[in-house]
Amino acid sequence: MKHTFDLAALKAKSLPRCNFAALVIAWGLKLTLQGEASPEEVEKAIAEMKAAIDKQVAPFVPPQKECIGCGATLTGDDVVEAFLRATFVYGLAHGEGHCRACGYPARANHYAPEGGAGLSFVRVLQYHPDELEERKPAAAAL
Ligand SMILES: [Zn+2]
Repeated sequence: MKHTFDLAALKAKSLPRCNFAALVIAWGLKLTLQGEASPEEVEKAIAEMKAAIDKQVAPFVPPQKECIGCGATLTGDDVVEAFLRATFVYGLAHGEGHCRACGYPARANHYAPEGGAGLSFVRVLQYHPDELEERKPAAAAL
């Protein structure tokens, strides 16, 4: 789709990147470890998980309801709001979508890396502007 957001202006804002701490603040995420592990083992495992999550969500900006491209309500707090107001729509690629008002891209379906630590969840995270490149009009390539 043709987008209306200003990518250059968004890149110039130097927005923060998402990380584990941002998910804790936004979603109240909490890591716990059950079993017979020693406190040192637990601390090490949690540090590894946090590092894996930091890496996994780094391509996105911290969770927020408003679209960074146009300010529209991208996601709803509940099902009703999501249906009536939210502008996030899924695209053709699995789990990927965009703001239907301005076209800013986001991912809703996140999966832990295969064979590695991470989080699998369905929540909309918008891509960090630095992850995107302005697509040149086809005519410019000729
Ligand atoms: Zn938008």
